[in-house]
Amino acid sequence: MANPFHLPPQVNTALSLLEAAGFEAFLVGGAVRDQLLGLGAGKDWDIATSARPWEIANVFVSSRVIRTGWKHGTVTVLLDGMPLEITTYRTGGPGPAGFAGSLEEDLAHRDFTINAMAYHPRTGLVDLYGGQEDLVCGMVRCVGNPDQRFQEDGLRLLRGLRFAAIFRMQLAPDTAMAIHRNRALLQAVAPERIHSEWTRLLCGPDAEHVLRIFADVAAVSIPELAPMFGFEQHNPHHDKDIWEHTLAVLSAVPPDPVLRWAALFHDIGKPQCFSCSEDGTGHFYGHGTLSAQLADAILTRLRCDTASRTRIVTLVRRHDTPILPEPKPVCRLLNQLGPEGVRQLIELHKADTIGQSILCRDRLEQYRQAEAVLDELLRKKACFSRKDLAIHGKDLTALGLHGKAVGTALQTCLEAVLDGRVSNERNALLAFLLSDPLHFPPSSI
Ligand code: ATP
Ligand code: MG
Repeated sequence: MANPFHLPPQVNTALSLLEAAGFEAFLVGGAVRDQLLGLGAGKDWDIATSARPWEIANVFVSSRVIRTGWKHGTVTVLLDGMPLEITTYRTGGPGPAGFAGSLEEDLAHRDFTINAMAYHPRTGLVDLYGGQEDLVCGMVRCVGNPDQRFQEDGLRLLRGLRFAAIFRMQLAPDTAMAIHRNRALLQAVAPERIHSEWTRLLCGPDAEHVLRIFADVAAVSIPELAPMFGFEQHNPHHDKDIWEHTLAVLSAVPPDPVLRWAALFHDIGKPQCFSCSEDGTGHFYGHGTLSAQLADAILTRLRCDTASRTRIVTLVRRHDTPILPEPKPVCRLLNQLGPEGVRQLIELHKADTIGQSILCRDRLEQYRQAEAVLDELLRKKACFSRKDLAIHGKDLTALGLHGKAVGTALQTCLEAVLDGRVSNERNALLAFLLSDPLHFPPSSI
């Protein structure tokens, strides 16, 4: 079989320099896994070595060395612009006490067999736990005793689900059972670590499948999901319970973090909004607003960055408001959400429709039309924000407006253009403003 390993020259250089100084050094972790999977060059290159951190720093004395996790033995070395994470062999214990004596010990503390392989260009693959075989048959399996491994670090539960979701793998039966059994361990994991794993899991092609099987685990880190499980909607537009519908929508949106989080949360407020009309039909009035509130609270708790949280919450809040496929309403949306936001909102609507019963399918055509309207508006550079206006602040100062009045006048123009009351042309806008007594009282002209 052809050698699947193609290491960048910087990695080869780092391995050679460490060895020339009398230390062992191997490529380890995700980079080995990804190369075996044929995924090509990844973003991080992890090297494990017998050298202690200060010895690593000495070897790379002529390069930029960042003390990323000095106490734990991790040093980032920049070689020709490429960051390499070089870590002293570890046993998994805290601080310098956790330095290990050998590569074997180091590999034993890693989480899954697929992540516990090492590679050296001269000596080849070191695979002590059957990682290569697990990669071939698509198994995520703990190194050693799964209960013990999860108890050492609860985040490994979510990492396991993440690898299954992004590589379309299965959890090995004993590992899967241990994940269910130890799910409460997630309560003790730092929220930002949970958020980062969740985001990657959600973007995996098998996220739907993994979340269906491990819904109990999902609900430990996000308990607000639980009321959706099995909640029947009693509505002809829906042939699935809320959770199954959510999973279908999740799969149907592109694998973008904002969209996937929005899909996960878009109906999370539904159980609390349920009401039944006399004929037995279920309704969920106000669920968009409640879902948005819940999403905001959850993402804040998980320390999601503000920009992403705002975009996710906005999509959730608006997921249920119809999008008219006409220039004026789409321009309004562009003004409020920007081009990417509008595209995402249409994607979410399309996916929501795909997740509903067949009765709703004809709505898809409406969203395709909305997309076409959006494309056309962007193509002809339609005006949807103040900066697109054919007049600018300096035109208004020339007319004698100052300070806040300039902003207010520009906003008036934008509103009028969005409403179609005036065209976005310089002379038309100036005439429009001058005729508006709010900005130019008759006495001032
Ligand atoms: P990615 O593609 O996301 O970078 P990765 O497996 O490389 O995946 P990293 O967080 O970069 O993940 O970690 C590098 C390696 O360190 C892993 O492959 C694994 O061997 C080990 N590792 C990382 N986190 C843990 C953990 N929580 N428990 C045990 N081993 C871990
Ligand atoms: Mg990595």
